[in-house]
Amino acid sequence: MFDQPETMKDPPPDPRPLLMTNKDGPSRQRSLFEWNIAGHPHAEGDASNSGMSALPGTSSLQNVRTQNQCVIPDEDPNRGLSLDSIDEEGDHFDLMGEGIGDEDDGGEDEEEQDFNADSEPAQKHKTRQPLPSAVKDEYDKHLSYLKQTSGPRAKPRLYETLQTFWLPQKANFFLLNGSKKPRPSQLYNHRWFYWDPDHLVEGGLRCPNCSSHLHRHGFTRPRRVVDLQDVFYMIGQRHRCPTCRNPNTNECSLTFNSWDPRIVKNLPPALSAEFPACLSHRNAIADPVLAVMRTCFQYGMGSKQFSNCLQVLHHRHFDALHVQYLQGILSRVDPDPSTPYEPFGTFDDRGGFSGFVPSSQWLRGMYDKLIEEHGSEIDQKTAMLTAEIVAIDHSHKVCMSINYKCTFTYLLF
Ligand SMILES: [Zn+2]
Repeated sequence: MFDQPETMKDPPPDPRPLLMTNKDGPSRQRSLFEWNIAGHPHAEGDASNSGMSALPGTSSLQNVRTQNQCVIPDEDPNRGLSLDSIDEEGDHFDLMGEGIGDEDDGGEDEEEQDFNADSEPAQKHKTRQPLPSAVKDEYDKHLSYLKQTSGPRAKPRLYETLQTFWLPQKANFFLLNGSKKPRPSQLYNHRWFYWDPDHLVEGGLRCPNCSSHLHRHGFTRPRRVVDLQDVFYMIGQRHRCPTCRNPNTNECSLTFNSWDPRIVKNLPPALSAEFPACLSHRNAIADPVLAVMRTCFQYGMGSKQFSNCLQVLHHRHFDALHVQYLQGILSRVDPDPSTPYEPFGTFDDRGGFSGFVPSSQWLRGMYDKLIEEHGSEIDQKTAMLTAEIVAIDHSHKVCMSINYKCTFTYLLF
């Protein structure tokens, strides 16, 4: 039943195994009974009292065990299985493109929406989840850095000294080899982008409605942006217009985020080119992802497949971080064996990594938004082409009533 006695009797030639698959040494592969797995009948007491204690060399084995901790998360054998009833139809794509995580959960909260010029009453009843703790910690840390200013115009040091929009961050290698034990939340290590064009435009930002000078109104909450293999977060500034009145309350409470499309549109093109994302109501997608998605759609890959493709890439990135964490633990000297290392967690754990992949429906919406924004340009380009093949489709499937969309709809599909 136990393989350990054999390996204990024959000491291995190499006392410092490097891989977890070795069957000896402090990092050896463990029998199932050595782990305290929740719900397992042999967990904890049973494992220490069973066959192990009768083995030769027990005391040294126990010494070794005190120095090793389980860093693999416990499995919950009682968790529900998702058996999709739509499966009955047997379509290959039925289970695709569902995404992971809440799409309404990547941006401003409801209180701020009340003061936002583009808020919609129908969306006010929704409540938001709190930020994942790892993101909250990073956000607080970055805010205290962003409040540091320098130079005659009190610019943030990020702009004045480092001259970048991306907040500096340590690489995971250095986090793993720090003096303290690395924590998984440190290795999630999201990228952060700070968008505050008010400091970068001569004379400051102006209201897109009335052209008054906007007043600074504090930092925004983080906005999550979906990238190819992970998400990054943006911090912006809120700006209040001193003259525009909120039509609902008749008070001067209209505020604009610094990434409001109406504000970004009025920036110098060289500055607005630095903005890395395309926004939805509460989420955002990074420009490169949108570019890849356009290409995929035009060459026959649908939104469901694209959502699944993102899911694979995001999971792959998460697994690579997990492996780096485990390898980092194996290769470092443990300064405090009495404290266990934290398990790395799972991709969709809301208290941990909080992985997010958008659904196909949301991706389709972002694509439609992009095409609609460029509709007139696409129509113009089409109108300039010579008519080599002209055909009229009397079925009117696509453009029954919306005539102006016809040209680019046919052009793209
Ligand atoms: Zn105004």
